[in-house]
Amino acid sequence: MSDATVPPFFRAGGRHRFTAREATVVAVSHPVEEFVRVTVTGDDFDDFASSGPTDHVRAFFPDPATGELAAPRAVGPGEDGIVRPEAPTFARDFTPLHPRRDGDRVLVDLDILLHADPGPAAAWGGQAEPGDRLVIVGPRASKEAPQGADRAVLVVDPTAFPSASRWLAELPSSTRVDVVADVAGDLAWVETYLRQESGRSDFSLTAGGADLAEAVRTLGVDAGTFVFAAGEASRLVPLRRHLRTQLALPREQFAVSGYLKDGTAGFDHHAPIDPSDPD
Ligand SMILES: Cc1cc2nc3c(=O)[nH]c(=O)nc-3n(C[C@H](O)[C@H](O)[C@H](O)COP(=O)(O)OP(=O)(O)OC[C@H]3O[C@@H](n4cnc5c(N)ncnc54)[C@H](O)[C@@H]3O)c2cc1C
Repeated sequence: MSDATVPPFFRAGGRHRFTAREATVVAVSHPVEEFVRVTVTGDDFDDFASSGPTDHVRAFFPDPATGELAAPRAVGPGEDGIVRPEAPTFARDFTPLHPRRDGDRVLVDLDILLHADPGPAAAWGGQAEPGDRLVIVGPRASKEAPQGADRAVLVVDPTAFPSASRWLAELPSSTRVDVVADVAGDLAWVETYLRQESGRSDFSLTAGGADLAEAVRTLGVDAGTFVFAAGEASRLVPLRRHLRTQLALPREQFAVSGYLKDGTAGFDHHAPIDPSDPD
């Protein structure tokens, strides 16, 4: 139940111990054909925490050419901080899913999209086996889903479907959800994935089509609607302009994040997606 004293788009949160965790793959599965799920654990996962749908970890993979794993390490057992390696690293961001205790260990799932132009992440994921090693850094902090919005619009491409499944699961059932999927073709697999991972089926699902801003215009954004958009950075620019400039939404009412950029390996999501409006 929402608390009338809390603003509708308020997102609670906080910091976590920031460390590098050595992880071992304990299971590999396919929630849907398009994703490989690696379930990881490690000695230092006891306080692994993630309570927000936009949380991400940085996963360090072995060098695809040599198999060597260069990655940050923890400054010390239980301490806050990491030491970065000298050697080049191969790291990408992922949305941690279903952190859970299983006996004396903590398990976390990473769903890795098997896309058509695999870099270190998708290539590693496509061949992952129990026993494989990687290093997981973060999440540094969590920002929870707002608990007071009437409605949420999630505009997501497949790399952000894991995050969308968390939004669906972590928004209250009183928040109506419309999902705009930036995929071409059949949406059946998207619906299957989002339903099974979130446990929620009362959402609308439409395709983003040629113009994501137009798709959101068609759905409409009113004063009670929170908008989350994540996916290919260039595709998000017109949508971000629509939200920021045309609708002039307050900053707390939307979050737009590039999760990849066409033609860019290892896209840095901290880079501004719209150079003409970098703020
Ligand atoms: C906050 C955050 C959370 C993320 N969460 C997830 C997640 O949970 N699951 C997930 O799979 N990814 C997620 N991503 C994206 C992920 O970090 C990688 O970008 C993605 O896995 C591609 O890595 P790669 O090494 O295979 O390709 P890269 O080496 O980064 O890129 C190689 C080439 O493939 C292209 N490419 C990259 N991704 C795609 C794609 N989806 N479709 C088509 N071409 C592509 C690039 O433009 C480049 O030309 C997230 C990103 C961010 C910033």
